[in-house]
Amino acid sequence: MKCKLCHNDKELRNSHIIPEFFYKPLYDKRHRFNVIPLNEEQKFRYEQKGLRERLLCDDCENKLSKWEDYVRRIFYGGKEILITNGNPIKIEGLDYAKFKFFQLSLLWRASISELDFFKGVSLGPHEEKIRQMLLNEDPGSKLKYPCLFIMVLMEPNKVLDDFIYPPIFLRINGHRTYRFIFGGGFWIYFVSSHTKMLNSSKISKFFLNENGLLLIPLIPANRIDFFLNLAKDFVKYNKN
Ligand SMILES: [Zn+2]
Repeated sequence: MKCKLCHNDKELRNSHIIPEFFYKPLYDKRHRFNVIPLNEEQKFRYEQKGLRERLLCDDCENKLSKWEDYVRRIFYGGKEILITNGNPIKIEGLDYAKFKFFQLSLLWRASISELDFFKGVSLGPHEEKIRQMLLNEDPGSKLKYPCLFIMVLMEPNKVLDDFIYPPIFLRINGHRTYRFIFGGGFWIYFVSSHTKMLNSSKISKFFLNENGLLLIPLIPANRIDFFLNLAKDFVKYNKN
């Protein structure tokens, strides 16, 4: 079968879209995780494994897993990196290309995926542009498909760490964006050809910088409509 990244005809691996380490906090003792209901009938359902799909050949899978491994060691320990607590959290000395490839590969995989969970992501012509960037290992500039990562605080010192949610399309100040929720917060990808305009906006300082600086704002969940609505839905779905 044709690998979605290199287009070579090879045997395909069963790949994940969102890396397993971002599911990990979700696992209970029986290695199941909660999937938040997509509609009223679904309620909480349990899955034995992360969402997987045959997308990539062995070589491409290995390439992507190197970038993931880099990010896993930043978020879950094992990587010596300068992190200054505060709001925003300041991370310095990141490998711009590796981190950017990780971000882009996740967005791209969600777009090529045929799983129901990712049906909200459809990149159109940007899908092929991002495939070329990943294939040729071209991370692009800071403003090329930038991603805003916001961490969500559930309590004053506790970050949201056990929650994933289907990505959706959102229009923010005239920009096309996709919002993912995993790994402790919101990942908002700006997908358009006019993202250069964002350079003058207040949020551009939160995009991963070519010099390896990443600022991560922390926002309390009770200031985010999404969580307020979710809490209401939760009460509604679990009434009986
Ligand atoms: Zn391949």
